[in-house]
Parts: sequence; C-alpha cells; structure tokens
Amino acid sequence: MTQDTLNPTQHFIVIGNPIAHSKSPAIHQLFASQSGLTISYQRQYCPDDAQSFQAVVEAFFNGGGVGANVTVPFKQVAYAQCQAQGSLSEHAKVAGAVNTILIKDSALYGDNTDGQGLVNHMIRLGWPLTDARVAIIGAGGAARGVILPLIEAGIGALTLANRTESRAQDLASELSAASSVINNHKITSCETSKLTGDFDLIINATSIGLTGDTLPLCADLTSGYVYDMMYGRELPFLQHFVARGAQVSNGFGMLIGQAALSFERWTGHTVDVDGATTALQASAN
Ligand code: NDP
Repeated sequence: MTQDTLNPTQHFIVIGNPIAHSKSPAIHQLFASQSGLTISYQRQYCPDDAQSFQAVVEAFFNGGGVGANVTVPFKQVAYAQCQAQGSLSEHAKVAGAVNTILIKDSALYGDNTDGQGLVNHMIRLGWPLTDARVAIIGAGGAARGVILPLIEAGIGALTLANRTESRAQDLASELSAASSVINNHKITSCETSKLTGDFDLIINATSIGLTGDTLPLCADLTSGYVYDMMYGRELPFLQHFVARGAQVSNGFGMLIGQAALSFERWTGHTVDVDGATTALQASAN
C-alpha cells in the first residue's frame, strides 16, 4: 500500500492579506488531480502582524498540515519564523523571503520557489538565457528573489534599474554579500529612466502593473525578450516592446512555475506544468 492510499487527504494553505483573490487553490487542486492525490488547499486570511502569522503557521503544522504557501505581506515574516524555529533553503536565505513552508527534521523549513519558477517558465518558452545581457527593472522583493536563480541559469552581465537608484545599488551590494555566486557576477545599477541600449532580456519586477502607472523608458531601450512578472490584465510595458519587435510574456507562467515547485517539494510528485498552464488559461477565459 502506498503512502498516498494510507493518508488520503493532505492539507495545504496559502496565507496572505488580502487572500480572497488567490488562484493557488485552483492551481494546486489541478496538480493534485494530475498526480492522483487527494488534497485540501485553502486560502488562509491572516491579520497583518507577525504574531498572528506565527500563530497561524504553528496551528496549521501542529494540526498535521503538510505545506503552506506564503504571499504578500508575509514573505519576510515567514523568513524570520523559519530562521528562528527551523531552517532555510539557500534561495530563501538570499531572497530574504519565504513563499513555501514544510516540515523537515521535525522543524519548519522555509524555501523560496518564485525565482526558479520564473527561470523555469523562460526555459519552457525556449528563451535563451546562457550569457544573456539582462536588465531587471525594480529593486523590491520580487527582483531580489529572481537574481540568484537567473545567475545560476547562466545569464551574462546584469543591470538593475530602479526608480530610486540607491535601492538598486543597495540590493546589488546586499546580494553580493549574501552569496558568493552573486558576488562573482558583474552587476551594474542605474535609474530606470537612464536604462538605455540593447539587451537580450528585460524583466519588469516593479509593481506598476498594480497601479496602472507607466515607466519612463528611454526611446532607444530595446530587447529581444521582455518579461513582466505581473499577470491578469493588459500590460502597457509589454505592449511598448511588442511594438519594437520583442517576444514578450506576462508572469502567469511564473505563478504556475513557483506553485509547481512548492507542490513537488511537499509531495514528491512531478507536475506537468505545460498541461496545467493550458488548462488554467482555458478556465480563466
Ligand atoms: P515591492 O513593493 O517590493 O517593490 C516594488 C518595486 O516597484 C520597487 O522597485 C519600486 O521602486 C517599483 N515601483 C513601484 N511603483 C513605481 C512607479 N510608479 N514607478 C516606477 N517604479 C515603481 O514589490 P514586489 O517586488 O514584491 O512585487 C513586484 C511585482 O512582482 C508585483 O507586481 C507582483 O505582483 C509581481 N510578482 C509576481 C509573481 C508571480 O508569480 N508572477 C511573484 C512575485 C511578485 P522604488 O524602489 O523606487 O519604490
């Protein structure tokens, strides 16, 4: 008898605030049906303070929960809790944020699958990453989480551009101090409006898609491939580069990719990410 039949329902949650919009339950239910597992995956609202978050995590895992995803605004709080009560993956340590929690050696273990989810999506798209000259626009949590996985994937020179240039500089210094892999890599920084020239890949890791603002982009800024981590609405950032001949993608595949890695860490089952993406896109239309 397999583990799956001995323990038919495995319990998962995604913790956030707000959380009602989360697509994670639908994504993970699809993975479970692909894998022949019976799971319960619930959205867990939590008041926006560290104490409440820690209480939710402890209650969930003490009650037999198998895995938790963590979303805005709790990724840094989750990092601190896993650091204090258990351990962290290398990607979580460098990102300074946790999006996936499980139990390992009887203690909390925090991982971060966001950056690898992005890289895996680009690989599925067939985008060339080896030695690619890459610009990331944005210097917040999302940018921080993707830099190590991109460098591990073999990219070349990396430019960090941000509205507040000092935050891009600080991010480059902090990550270089946190990881020898990043420290050995050439990273430059600039203000977004001064980002200029031709790149192989540009990634928008700002939150402008949430506010409807537009970025001040130089007229001669071009790239063969352009990715926006946002998804779920028209993205003027991508339209700007489509008009200049770029191949583009929004961040829906990254969302599925990070979820697939969480699911695989929790259950040991490999996900058919392309099949799941097609099914989820069809159900969203
Ligand atoms: P943060 O709040 O940490 O960072 C926001 C970034 O956007 C900063 O660099 C900020 O610049 C910049 N920014 C905000 N408003 C403007 C503006 N009006 N003009 C120029 N720059 C601006 O956010 P996150 O890093 O956590 O998230 C960024 C995006 O990534 C979000 O849209 C999020 O949805 C997406 N994301 C997608 C995922 C996926 O699975 N597809 C996973 C994780 C994130 P400054 O420093 O100057 O304030």
